[in-house]
Parts: sequence; structure tokens; C-alpha cells
Amino acid sequence: MGHSDQGAQTPIPDRGWLLALPKAEVHVHLEGCLAPELVSSAARRAGAELPGDLEQGVHDLDSLLRTLDISCALIDTEAELIDIAYGFSRHEADSGVRYADVIVNPAHWPAWRGRLDSFVAALDAGFTAAETDGFTPVGICPSIGRDQSASEAVELVEWIVADQSERLVALSIDGNEEAAGRSSPRFADAFGRAAAAGFHRCVHAGESSGPEGVWDAIDLLGAERIDHGIRCVDDPALVAELARRGIALDVCPTSNVRLGVVSSLHDHPVEQLRAAGVRVSINTDDPFLLGTDIPAEMASVATTFSWGTDVVAEMARTSIDASFASAEVKRALQNELSAFLESPS
Ligand SMILES: [Zn+2]
Repeated sequence: MGHSDQGAQTPIPDRGWLLALPKAEVHVHLEGCLAPELVSSAARRAGAELPGDLEQGVHDLDSLLRTLDISCALIDTEAELIDIAYGFSRHEADSGVRYADVIVNPAHWPAWRGRLDSFVAALDAGFTAAETDGFTPVGICPSIGRDQSASEAVELVEWIVADQSERLVALSIDGNEEAAGRSSPRFADAFGRAAAAGFHRCVHAGESSGPEGVWDAIDLLGAERIDHGIRCVDDPALVAELARRGIALDVCPTSNVRLGVVSSLHDHPVEQLRAAGVRVSINTDDPFLLGTDIPAEMASVATTFSWGTDVVAEMARTSIDASFASAEVKRALQNELSAFLESPS
């Protein structure tokens, strides 16, 4: 992998170049992509009072998860889910994202409890319509909450396996690991079943947990990618292991600063991890709530660490390679990226 340790060989990329750069997004939650207008009209219809500006209320992981719960609980029609899915795909396309894996945690959507089939069918309809209109293709990663039980997790996996929809690509797990305590042993069975049925695995770890959470993610849950994972930096043996096995970290810089995982972008370990040979992609986590998109994320880290276009392009390559798109889609996107990098700008 090409590191420019001797200083930036290529210019720091501008927004136009970052928008045009072919890339994938692999760490983004549908719950964090609800258009504010849609949430307020759902609240009006339900006669519910929203607690002020939802975005302003987000300052740590707990407040973020609470905010997601409040907004998603208002969504109870298929038409809204279709709108949310369509809007997500269009937003990704507007950011120059050519493929996205989106995390969807059914526990955040109480109106759909016991109606998972209808829930996913509506999202699928929205994504299909968006893709037909030329927007970004999307794979769904159904997600377990860290505070759920082993049997709830297995139940979700059994549903995924039975559903047989090509839209479902991976099993995910997210939530607050600090609050849940060491929970990966509880979910090893569910992840083992997902792997045996041919599903990919991505795991939130090393955000609200330290290196031990990342070790569990790879040892117990068979994680192919780690969502965040940045606190692995506290354990050199783990950093070396991630680099050796080529397990990518799906990093979200603004999210980490906003939720207080790092004190500032300058203190973000992404540069140290990259320099240590860990594969890294740049993502948004909850773009509507955090008011960001991938070009903005890439621009801020590139500026902070003086990364040239070569470093950022390597991360775009990682995002495509680490995505759960089909081998055929990945090959086409890698070719598109190569052609983009070779074309005179
Ligand atoms: Zn996340």
C-alpha cells in the first residue's frame, strides 16, 4: 500500500475532486438519515412533541441513540419507509458514492415489531426505485443492538436467512458497548449462524469499547470489517493483527469528535493507524444528524493530516474493496476508480 510518509506528493484534494472520486460508503445508519421534514410531519400526524432541534441534542453516544429512537418511533407507514430509503440512496449519489452498505437496526423501529417482512419490503421498494432512477445501489446490513438478548439475535439471523432477499448482505451489531458490558460472547452463536449461511459480518467495536472489544469482534464474531475500531490504537499487538489480516476499519471522523470519542480531529488516530498499515475507509455514520457527507469527511481529515489525493484515493479503494457489494460490482467500481485516477484533471 502506498504511504506518502515523505510528505504529501500529491495536492490536498478539493471538494470537486472528492465528489467525483468513485467510492463506497460502508458505515452509515439508516436511522441517522431521516430527513428532518419527514420526522416533523410524522410527529405532527402522531400529535407528538419533538424535543427541540434533534441535531442540537446529540453530544454523546447515549444522546445520539435516544435521538434515533425518538425519530424512528414516529415512522409507521410503508410510504415513509419508501421515502427514507429513496432519500438515502439519492443522498449517497449526491456525495459521489457508487455503492453503500447501510446498517438498519430493527430495534429502533418499534412500529414494525413483528412485521419485519413488511419493513424490509418497503425499504427494498424505495432502494429499487432509487436505483432505477440512477441513484446509488444499497445493501442492507440488519443490526443487533448490544443490549439485546442472545435469543433475539438468533431470531433476527433466522429471519435474515429465511428471507433470502439479495438486499440483505450482512449481519451487523451496534449500540453502546460501554453500557452493555462485554456482550460479544452472547452474540457469537448468532454471528456463527450468519457466517454459516453465507452472510457477511460487520461489527461496531473500539468506539465505546477499548481494544478488548475489537479483539472480541474478530475472535468471537468473525468480523470482516470493524465499524469505528479506532481504540485499537491502545494495543500495538491488535494494530499489527488488523494490518496483517487486512481487516478494514470503517472510520467516521466527525462522529468520533461530536460524540467525544476523540477530543479533536488532530487527536484522531486515523493517521497513526494508516501509517501502521491498517486499511481504513472514511464514512459518515449518521450524516443527516451530524450534518456531514463523505466529501466533507474526507476533506477535513485530508486537511488535518496533509493527505494528498493519493492517500485519499487509497481509502476510496479500501471502501470499495471492503464493501459487501458483489464481486462483479466491486470489480467495475475498482476499474472506474482507476480510470478516474488516470484521467487528466
Ligand atoms: Zn455507527
